[in-house]
Amino acid sequence: MGFNTELLHGAKEGDPATGATLTPVYQSSAFYQPSAEQHEKLFNNKANGYSYTRINNPTIAAFEERMTVLEKGLASVACSSGMAAITDTLLNIVGAGNEIVTSNSLYGGTIDLFHDLEAFGITTRFVDGADLGEVESAINDKTRAIFAETIGNPKLDVTDIPVWAKLAHDHGLPLIIDNTVATAFLVKPLTLGADIVINSTSKYVNGNSSAISGVITDSGKFKWDAGRYPGLKPYAKFGPFAFTAKLRNGLFRNMGACMAPQTAFYNLVGMETLGLRMERACDNAAQLAAYLDLLPGVNVNYPGLASSPWYDTATRLLNGRYGAIFTLRVGSKDKAFAIMNSLKIPMIVSNIGDTKTLIVHPSSTLSAHSTEQEKKDAAVYDDMIRVSVGIEDIEDLIHDFEAAIVGAGVGES
Ligand SMILES: *Cc1c(COP(=O)(O)O)cnc(C)c1O
Repeated sequence: MGFNTELLHGAKEGDPATGATLTPVYQSSAFYQPSAEQHEKLFNNKANGYSYTRINNPTIAAFEERMTVLEKGLASVACSSGMAAITDTLLNIVGAGNEIVTSNSLYGGTIDLFHDLEAFGITTRFVDGADLGEVESAINDKTRAIFAETIGNPKLDVTDIPVWAKLAHDHGLPLIIDNTVATAFLVKPLTLGADIVINSTSKYVNGNSSAISGVITDSGKFKWDAGRYPGLKPYAKFGPFAFTAKLRNGLFRNMGACMAPQTAFYNLVGMETLGLRMERACDNAAQLAAYLDLLPGVNVNYPGLASSPWYDTATRLLNGRYGAIFTLRVGSKDKAFAIMNSLKIPMIVSNIGDTKTLIVHPSSTLSAHSTEQEKKDAAVYDDMIRVSVGIEDIEDLIHDFEAAIVGAGVGES
């Protein structure tokens, strides 16, 4: 099946209980059981069913199943946010005294999270993702996980997932990939050797910024060594489901960062057009990036431009498109602000992945908590605007951006 057919028909369709074509919102906190015996079985993993929405819910389960199909994984766990998905994933396998190795070009919130984990005895080593030697030398006997984003946000570097996966596996470590910016439309990291994929489904999967959520999808392929991952040992009996079983029976239910049924429904609606939206948004981004790059005084960073250091990797790994996000540098913070204030179509928002074009000045907002070195590593500059391109008509976007850039005096000496 092609991408869109599988997206629409690859998982169980609609609601078998009623024949509804789309799984309805089961807006219920709890589900009653026919007998005390059945309730006991449910709580001891001896029966399938629903008891409490923090643990599972039919609408959420339908969304999880579709995410599993989308990412070609074994099982998914839906969380209250992308950050909750990242936190649950890491804490399911990493503990005090352990280390994580990660690419340094990450979403600002994830960098902040790694700093938060220091208080719990978890150290993170940030490396230049393009330097495999640096990645390898950061690994030691305390390392328990390797982390990267498919397309770094906002550096827009592209992780060479097959190479990273081999390196991780050579050291007995799982590779965790945040696929939020690329989405499964551009690449399915689990098919390239990654072990766990995370999506902030607040972005492209939802598609119109109607709800915050995140999903963890496990390939089920990683072999958890009992000595290195003692917490996984009791779950070895679940075979390839060990990671998910530990999560569902432990941290996920106990931290309580579950998805709301209404959110799962918004995501089920939104994800049906993921392919169509990504196609249009990526094509718009490619045209707009190429056009603006030719304007004097403007420097565009987009993996789809041959000038990007990641153009070759992107061409090899992605599906022929290059994502819908680019950044432009315009000479000064004042000019960046002047452009943002005079653009008519884009909204100033700290978000990405909407049907509408969104702009942000990362240095003063998303990366405001980062050190100067962290900003440099993440390619965040004072004169830089990040653009998350939507599905508007390209002529309108080009005219709006060109007028704002020329109006701000960019390129004039
Ligand atoms: C937005 C984002 C997150 C965090 O997701 P939330 O749903 O906002 O918690 C994580 N990673 C990337 C790459 C993101 O863009």
